Amino acid sequence: MKYEGIIIRPPSEAASLILQVTVGCSHNKCTFCPAYKAKQFRVKTLQEIFQDIDEAAAETAEKVRRVFLCDGDPLIIPQETLLSIASRIQERFPRLLRIGVYANAKSILRKSVSELRELQENRLGILYLGLESGDPITLELVKKGVTAEQMIEAAAKVREAGIKLSVTVILGLGGRQRSLLHATETMRVLNKMKPHHVGALTLMLVPETPLYRLQETGGFILPEPFELIQELRAMLAESQLENCLFFSNHASNYLPLKVRLPHDKERVLREIDSIVKAQDERLLTPEFLRAL
Ligand code: SF4
Repeated sequence: MKYEGIIIRPPSEAASLILQVTVGCSHNKCTFCPAYKAKQFRVKTLQEIFQDIDEAAAETAEKVRRVFLCDGDPLIIPQETLLSIASRIQERFPRLLRIGVYANAKSILRKSVSELRELQENRLGILYLGLESGDPITLELVKKGVTAEQMIEAAAKVREAGIKLSVTVILGLGGRQRSLLHATETMRVLNKMKPHHVGALTLMLVPETPLYRLQETGGFILPEPFELIQELRAMLAESQLENCLFFSNHASNYLPLKVRLPHDKERVLREIDSIVKAQDERLLTPEFLRAL
């Protein structure tokens, strides 16, 4: 397998075979995101991708149950090429159960529901989509390049095609000024997107990003740890999600939670309230253990 640069995958794909079909991110403009800044976006050639699949299959054909396609936005690849990749994966890994992929809302919207369903029939089982915030002003400030309405529309297509949807949101992204608004607007959009999973991360500012530089000049203030916990509470309090698993167990978070919605909602809100009331930092993940 030939990987170019640093490879990123969702925590839930830890046991998957990681297949790099694109290099970098097609958007690459989000002001908080350090992920692919050093990479010039390109789609790998079919020859390169097939070679990687065949090499991996020569070693682990019978063991692979899940394959995760990265880097950013593999759905930008034309449908026929994507189907060829999915077919090759299925041929070479006979015990395959699922293909997962990072998705960009614009690329989802460029596909019809029947094209997405065709991918689902070829084992595309889960899409990971970064909403980050449902607050329109925050989305614009961080240059996400997609509106909340486009996110909702893309999610509806994914669900209609029978593909599982996992959505990422980022605590702290609205800064101190928009903190609670960011939380409630984000859940307002999530309620409409109806994802199967939500993964909450907590913003960690990385030096080479524009948002870090904005913070240095006083244009952005990151909320304090207990303010971020309040944000998490405000987000969960607005939830009307059904059959959704809400996680905040990413290493960046101060309070790792796994919440089955709506079942666990009231219990978790009470737990958060008691933590906020105590204001005891020992109840939070220590700073040195946090990571992206
Ligand atoms: S957050 Fe996602 S879309 Fe934005 S630059 Fe990073 S990888 Fe690309």
